[in-house]
This record gives sequence, C-alpha cells and structure tokens, in this order.
Amino acid sequence: MATLAIRSATLWDGTHADPRPGTTVVMRDGDVTWVGPDGAPSAPLADAQVIDADGRWLLPGLIDLHVHLTFDPRDPDFLRVATQLPVAEAAFRGAHHARLMLEAGFTGVRDLGAFGDANVAIKRALDNGWVRGPRLATCGVFITVRGGHADLALRREVAIDQGIAVSGVEGVREAVRSRAHRGADWIKVLATAGVMTGGGAPMGACLWEDDELVAAVQASTRLGRKVAAHAHGADGIVAAANAGVATIEHVTMADTRAIDAMAHHGTALIPTFSAAEAVYREAQAGRLSPSSAAFAMTIGPRHRESFKLALDAGVTIGFGTDIGVPGTTFGDNAAEFQTMVAAGMAPAAALRAATSGAATILGWPKAGIVAPGYWGDAVLVDGDPLADVGILANRARVHAVIKGGVLEVDRRPES
Ligand SMILES: [Zn+2]
Repeated sequence: MATLAIRSATLWDGTHADPRPGTTVVMRDGDVTWVGPDGAPSAPLADAQVIDADGRWLLPGLIDLHVHLTFDPRDPDFLRVATQLPVAEAAFRGAHHARLMLEAGFTGVRDLGAFGDANVAIKRALDNGWVRGPRLATCGVFITVRGGHADLALRREVAIDQGIAVSGVEGVREAVRSRAHRGADWIKVLATAGVMTGGGAPMGACLWEDDELVAAVQASTRLGRKVAAHAHGADGIVAAANAGVATIEHVTMADTRAIDAMAHHGTALIPTFSAAEAVYREAQAGRLSPSSAAFAMTIGPRHRESFKLALDAGVTIGFGTDIGVPGTTFGDNAAEFQTMVAAGMAPAAALRAATSGAATILGWPKAGIVAPGYWGDAVLVDGDPLADVGILANRARVHAVIKGGVLEVDRRPES
C-alpha cells in the first residue's frame, strides 16, 4: 500500500501534549508509522506521496458520537420520511450524508438510530469500500418502551411498526439480542420522552422500569455491546446511569442529583447542542408540531446550565451533535465546538472530546490520536483551532481529510 507523508505541519495529536510545529507524520498501510521533526534522517519517506502542510495544523480525524445518517433534516414531516419511504432509499440518503461528514473532517461517526436497518447496511457499505464516508458504529433500530419516544404504532399513516417498542424484561432482552444479531455495534434505549414525538408523558420522566433498563445493559454486555441512553430529564438520567449505560445523550434538564449519578458511574455525556438549538429555531419559526415546539422551547434554555453542572462535576464529555433532526445540516457538525466552548469548555478539552475522548468512549483503541500505531485518520486545518474552534466549522479552512492513510479530501488552495 502507498505511503503518505505530511511535512511542515503543526501537530496537535489529540492528547494533552502541546502542539508541535515543524512536524512530519508518515502513514503506511492505513496506520501512522512515524512522527518526528521535519528533516529527520530517520523519516521513512521512500516512495512516499508527500504533502506540504506549510505550517497548517494537523489534528486527528474528528469523531461525532451522535448522528442519524438516514434522517432527512430538511423535511418538515421528518417522521414520515423516516418511516414511510423505502428503507433502501434511507440507505442511499445516509450514504450521501456520510460522505458530507467525511468532507467536513469527520473520519468517525456513531449513528444512534434509524427506522429499519438502513444504518447497518451503510456500515457494511462503508466497511467494504462501496461508498465513501467515516468509520461507522451504529445501533441499528433504537429501542423504546410501549408508548415511549419514537413508538409510532398508533400513527395510522405510518405503514410499519418495526419492533421499535417493547415491554418488560423479556421484551427488552429479545430486542437487544435481535439488534446485535442484525449487526448493531451499540444498543440505543430511549429512556425519556423526546422532542420529535412528543407524547403524553411528562418530559423528564423515566419511561422505563428500572429492571427493564438493567436488563438492556446486562443483555448488551453479554453480547459485547455498550448502551447509549437518550434522556432529557433528571429521573431518566439517574435511572440510566444507575443501570450502567455507557453514554447519556442530550442531558438537557439535569439537576445535581442526575449529574452526581453520572459522575459516580463514570457515564459519559453527549450534549447534542446542535440539534437542540436547531429544533429551538424550528419551533420559533413555527415549523414544528405544537407538542414538539413546546418540548423544544422548554429544553433550550436549560441545556447549557445542565452542561455546566456536568463540566464542574468532572463528568466525561463526548462530542455529539444529533445531526439528522429537523433544522440541522450534515457537514456542519463542527459548529458544535463553538457551543461547547461558549458553554464553558476549554477548546482543547472540546477537541479531545471529539478525538481521543470519543475514541475511548467508542472502544476504538486505534482512533483519536496521531501517533505511531494509530489509524492514519487526520484533518489538515488552516489556522490554530485551539485559538479559534470556529475554524473547524468553516469548510474553506478544512484543507485536507485523511482516512486510513488515504488522502480523501484535498482542498488546499494551491493544489
Ligand atoms: Zn438522536
């Protein structure tokens, strides 16, 4: 396989190490094989394709821990799109979205739920090289309890009830086993109500019995899968953390009790500001149903407060946007960094949440760091993202994207 070398880069490697100007990085057979100062005689540059970074910053490829590849965020009735169109169409749409995110610098993505297994199909397509996009982890179809978030069984216009909703410990176990059998890497449970499906339940309440959540984690663990829980309110967050899920998504209406539970169990928080702010805008513009709009308007103001409580308590934060929900844009994932920093996170910590930190959460030991032995996944950026994280959200300044040692995107002005 080819050798790729990037020279004259300012390397920020994804760890706590200081940025290193004047660095050369060599990748071979998909992995980083050498990192050192420019001009070092030991650099294995024979037969290498050499890219001159000309002082630009080289970072590990970015990772988004929460997207919905198959959703169409531009359609006002996104549940119709998600449920009524052919699953094959959802797979094509998702493959298109995957490529947009790769072009924006994201070389790893966790898809947290589709209707139908289109996301599992996309993963196989990516793994086989049939389509271009980030490395993908996916949960297949999310799991909810009867009557919970995303249970569409009562919507007459929805043609299919794809076994999304279950009841009882046995139902939960069956659902987990079936997801894993069909190819899910993660199990996603919807612990509380959610913005897009409203419903009659109190927004913060946990809709699952404790034994059901515990059964989900136990059955997943047995099959080598970790669990991600969607939860907005404190009761749902506490129940999910106590049950042993690995990540809790959104955490928009937390209190100190909820944050303490997460800190105690080492549960990671995936904030998804991008989606919360998008649905807030959609609600203000009158583009959501009344129940969804009310939900979106309630969580909006409390979200940053919840996040700050978690930061102060030392809860692990993982980068995730929830792109796919209405009003979001695939490829704008990096705008999340600006909100994280505005909400109180240090820029380097926000970047680690999308690189080495995200890799730890995913259980991808070769991702998230640029160093020998790691995957050759990297982004070349025009400017210092530690001084201004907004650079990452500006496509014109993301000059190259490298995945598996291959130059996937090259937008350097002179090239
Ligand atoms: Zn989501």
